[in-house]
Amino acid sequence: MTADFRVTLLGTGVPIPSPDRFGPCTLVEAGDRKFLVDAGRGATIRLYQLKIPIGRIDVQLLTHYHSDHVSCVADVWLTGWLESHFGTRKTPYRVIGPTGAKRLMENLERAYADDIKIRVADEKLPLSGIAIDVSEYDRDGLIYDQNGVKVIAFEVDHGDVIKPCYGYRFEYGGRVAVLSSDTRYNQNVIKHGAGADLLVHEVASARPELMREAYIQRIIAHHTTPYDCGRVFAQTRPKLAAFTHIVQLASATIPPPSVEDMIAETRRAYDGPLEVGEDLMSFEIGDTVTVKRLMPKN
Ligand SMILES: [Zn+2]
Ligand SMILES: [Zn+2]
Repeated sequence: MTADFRVTLLGTGVPIPSPDRFGPCTLVEAGDRKFLVDAGRGATIRLYQLKIPIGRIDVQLLTHYHSDHVSCVADVWLTGWLESHFGTRKTPYRVIGPTGAKRLMENLERAYADDIKIRVADEKLPLSGIAIDVSEYDRDGLIYDQNGVKVIAFEVDHGDVIKPCYGYRFEYGGRVAVLSSDTRYNQNVIKHGAGADLLVHEVASARPELMREAYIQRIIAHHTTPYDCGRVFAQTRPKLAAFTHIVQLASATIPPPSVEDMIAETRRAYDGPLEVGEDLMSFEIGDTVTVKRLMPKN
């Protein structure tokens, strides 16, 4: 039986243009609904690998406006409109995000006006499929409630000037998946992460010798260290905790911390189930949470 509630990490990376970890993007499938949370670099490629037509996404959710989280929004919107089997959208592209979503989408419409004009004239694509239906919110609360799926947005703390920034809690069939978005150690994640079956959290780490650098301290201060993630997991006790948005800082002379180092740090505060996310890793949420990998191990 295929699971009716599944979270798939499409991109577990950060701004680094790595072929192994694409830009931040997570697919949430609940019942017949498909949500894309952010659309970082390569989101359309990962959907194609999953054989999910891009136009099949019901709602594009946005967490915040760092470019690595939204750089593929235009591609999802435009390529999802194409008539080919990988596109197919005939209805408006639905976007929900914190304040700023309308400005982003209006500006994209301006930027791509010529493409839209050309394709309507040349390919006779329906205007309904390239229309944008965007809504914004500016506080914690229920932002989606249809077909048994509830989505609750909650504000997180990504730094004093990186606002707004929100995480998401998905509720479906008595089960809960929570995505932290980009954040420092934050009580609101603990509040909304409580009782989750799956808690997917961002993480950022550097070797101690690199932590002396001011610019590294600045980056780490916008994120959550593995030890602090462990504290979040220990207080929320999800059935499964997973890392995504994996920041492994390095310099020309100091290598990045290994995944094993990050797990060891997390284990200082948390002893429950833990997965370090990889692109195309999925979590099927039933009575238990089952992990699947689509990407072959090197
Ligand atoms: Zn960010
Ligand atoms: Zn980020």
